[in-house]
Amino acid sequence: MTEKSFKYVIVGGGVAAGYAAREFAKQGVKPRELAIISKEAVAPYERPALSKAYLFPEGTARLPGFHVCVGSGGERLLPEWYPEKGISLILNTEIVKADLASKTLISAIGETFKYQILIIATGSSVIRLTDFGVQGADAKNIFYLREIDDADKLVEAIKAKKNGKAVVVGGGYIGLELSAALRINDIEVSMVYPEPWCMPRLFTAGLAAFYEAYYEKKGVKIIKGTVAVGFGTNDNGEVIDVKLKDGRIIEADIVVVGVGGRPLTGLFKGQVEEEKGGIKTDGFFRTSVPDVYAVGDVATFPLKLYNELRRVEHVDHSRKSAEQAVKAIFGGENGTPVDEYDYLPFFYSRSFDLSWQFYGDNAGESVLFGDSQPTSPTHKFGSYWIKDGKVVGAFLESGSPQENKAIEKVARVQPAVVGSLDELAALGLAFASKI
Ligand SMILES: Cc1cc2nc3c(=O)[nH]c(=O)nc-3n(C[C@H](O)[C@H](O)[C@H](O)COP(=O)(O)OP(=O)(O)OC[C@H]3O[C@@H](n4cnc5c(N)ncnc54)[C@H](O)[C@@H]3O)c2cc1C
Repeated sequence: MTEKSFKYVIVGGGVAAGYAAREFAKQGVKPRELAIISKEAVAPYERPALSKAYLFPEGTARLPGFHVCVGSGGERLLPEWYPEKGISLILNTEIVKADLASKTLISAIGETFKYQILIIATGSSVIRLTDFGVQGADAKNIFYLREIDDADKLVEAIKAKKNGKAVVVGGGYIGLELSAALRINDIEVSMVYPEPWCMPRLFTAGLAAFYEAYYEKKGVKIIKGTVAVGFGTNDNGEVIDVKLKDGRIIEADIVVVGVGGRPLTGLFKGQVEEEKGGIKTDGFFRTSVPDVYAVGDVATFPLKLYNELRRVEHVDHSRKSAEQAVKAIFGGENGTPVDEYDYLPFFYSRSFDLSWQFYGDNAGESVLFGDSQPTSPTHKFGSYWIKDGKVVGAFLESGSPQENKAIEKVARVQPAVVGSLDELAALGLAFASKI
């Protein structure tokens, strides 16, 4: 079997790898110095598109349309860009063994890759109901969504089950985006989740009340406070219904499960320090092992603004952490100083004609402001989170670019609240616009 050697290797070919590659090119990486090794069959792309326009019946997104770095308004790196820059893009190649001591990676078919500097960018994998032994969870037409192959299977099922019924298991942003996409395809959709409201990790009850009512208005049936405990199948092994813990049985031609992810760190277990489920790094994404960096979903890094270690599973961080690691690598080689990562958490989602942005930390008390009536024609509303008398987080639905910039600034500056929380709520966006 072959052995290939590179100065730099990125394992994983997702969002972080793509943004890292662009930064390597900017920093003047030389031909044949960098390799990206990816399990996927395609060059790095903007993963968030998979639960949005990729599933739309009209205005559908397809590659090469959404290769990185279009998601942040940057240049689109087509597959040919990599060889043009002398970067080896090694696709359809899963690394199954990593030995950090000997700086060696082994692929599923036994190829050996040697590196001097490694960037771990393996992202996350979805949590599967089969992991918990849920009865019938291996039935046909039960889908998960992480990679483009998963999205292609879902697209085929949507076509095959025209006007059919779908159950979406999970009430996070993936569940919300998928329910909307299925509904736009004229599928009858029920969403099932155990929590008292959707997106409980971020949404307050007040925010969630809008989205739940809006979804109901769009024809999505919401079933809360219970979980899927089994799936019925027909003679072909296809799912036909979802059994709920509360005894109800919901018919389904398609089931999509979005119950969370896990960082893919297994290859490096026992070889590198871990923290909070991820690979521990410093503010330059250096791990505990010399010459090994970790970026994107797998990194647990110092979030300077809050003075704590965190792992962030959002696309903005995957892009910025990748760029930071590459800058740090070149800074180290050239002796140019690089500032420590100083990240402001940012997360967004889009579904139907809705679009929200969130900046900062959803800690402490919260206030809801604006017009959050589900029947409102503008549905412009938001929330501030207040901790120790300061606004530390801000959420806005249907904001203009300027308004989104204003809430971003609020979360970064953390202004003190003068007056009562009711007064803050009454000021609403005007508070952010003044900062
Ligand atoms: C459907 C979907 C929608 C999303 N929407 C949003 C959104 O709206 N907003 C937002 O902020 N975030 C969103 N996210 C999250 C965001 O996409 C991730 O945080 C981001 O992709 C993480 O980047 P990454 O490079 O760390 O991992 P990934 O982009 O997941 O890339 C990891 C890559 O590594 C490869 N890999 C893994 N293991 C191996 C191995 N052993 N050998 C070789 N290759 C390997 C994988 O195949 C993959 O190509 C979404 C995620 C998904 C799945």
